[in-house]
Amino acid sequence: MRFLMAFFEWLASLWKRSPPQTTAPEVRTPPSRAPAYRCVVQYGPIHWVSSQAEAKPLLSSNGIVMVKGTSGAKWLLMNCPDDCGEVRRISVSEAMPPAWKFRSEADGTISLFPSVHLTSGCRVHFVLRHNKAYVI
Ligand SMILES: [Zn+2]
Repeated sequence: MRFLMAFFEWLASLWKRSPPQTTAPEVRTPPSRAPAYRCVVQYGPIHWVSSQAEAKPLLSSNGIVMVKGTSGAKWLLMNCPDDCGEVRRISVSEAMPPAWKFRSEADGTISLFPSVHLTSGCRVHFVLRHNKAYVI
């Protein structure tokens, strides 16, 4: 019993000897939520045409071309935002899956959902919001 008491006194003395904490615990701020886009490409106005042949001259001015089908928009054409020189032809017609959904914004621009991610070629991955391609 005496040994046990001595042991607890010794243990308590260790507790008392520990130096008081002089600095406040480190407060870490959460990592920035800013998206890490590689670049943002601004596109020109939207052009609605009835055939892909009409798109070429409009794409040279960095516009976005919407090709109409018999029942609404069929294709979205745009220069590839990673500047590889290719034209991205994106289906926006449910009749031609996989199809993306587009939204005509109040400011006359277009947004595309979900993101576009090529698994071959230049392998670009971007989101299009209000005529701006955010390359991821
Ligand atoms: Zn590309």
